[in-house]
Amino acid sequence: MAVTYHGTQSGELVINWHVTEACNYRCRYCYSKWHAEGSRKELIHSPKASAAMLAEIYRHFSPDNRLNQARLGMQWDSVRLSLAGGEPLLYSREIVGIVAQARELGFKVSLITNGSRLTQPLMTELAPQLSILGLSFDSAIASTNREIGRADRHEQILSLSDLAIVIESGRHLNPALRMKINTVVNALNFTEDMSQLIQQLAPDKWKVLRMLPTITSDLAIADHEFAEFVTRHKRLGVIMAAEDNNDMVESYIMIDPHGRFFQNSSRGTGYHYSDEILKVGAETAFREIGWQPDKFRFRYRTSVSETIA
Ligand code: SF4
Repeated sequence: MAVTYHGTQSGELVINWHVTEACNYRCRYCYSKWHAEGSRKELIHSPKASAAMLAEIYRHFSPDNRLNQARLGMQWDSVRLSLAGGEPLLYSREIVGIVAQARELGFKVSLITNGSRLTQPLMTELAPQLSILGLSFDSAIASTNREIGRADRHEQILSLSDLAIVIESGRHLNPALRMKINTVVNALNFTEDMSQLIQQLAPDKWKVLRMLPTITSDLAIADHEFAEFVTRHKRLGVIMAAEDNNDMVESYIMIDPHGRFFQNSSRGTGYHYSDEILKVGAETAFREIGWQPDKFRFRYRTSVSETIA
């Protein structure tokens, strides 16, 4: 889940909830794989459990909880829930309900999607409720998207024209909605020049993430390859926010589909998990995971803290 942190005295704390592991795409680098014992169900399928966890998260991270702000050594004046996946819109009715509950509690809400299930009626329902809509999009070239795995079982991909329509529609429905594109730079797209596409779509933010080999090293790239991609797009200026692997480790607040905090590891050893938030409470669960206060605060001072879809 990220932020735009406005100034030093106020800002937005972002909590990323990956609501499901399920996705209709099959990206080879996909990070959406959370280990869970037995047949533990994803929280999104239990409205009661989802609502209880949201309430607990808001209670703990609410800007009114000054003790928590002091402990983290940061200040924020609003909390944003960023819903991600998997593909969250596979469960669009549940998402609409979660967005409404979260807003009622006091969260701002954002959503990261691969865009494939974002129908116009759903957009009409969701756009006025969201502060940011993020779309994951890795390449302007259809064959590259297919090779990465960004296609459904009918080999359908999100085309450039689909993406342009979604962005235009979001802006029309909610002029305050900030549009964001997330691109994972990997072995199949690092030589591409996406400048023209990004200039044409003019998102408020283009987040460029180096493929993080936490779950798999398939499509991983070398330091210089990521650097080349970033340098090639430098002329886009501040619209581009680049994150290398080290920036992504222990610097996000993330919750998995089973209601546990988790953190990235950069060593290909998967994720580290807390106990379930509903069992031990948000404060105890958050203390159980590794996080680096300096990186965390730096993310606040700069921008972006949504994870990818
Ligand atoms: S769209 Fe996102 S969740 Fe789906 S397979 Fe690709 S990376 Fe994974």
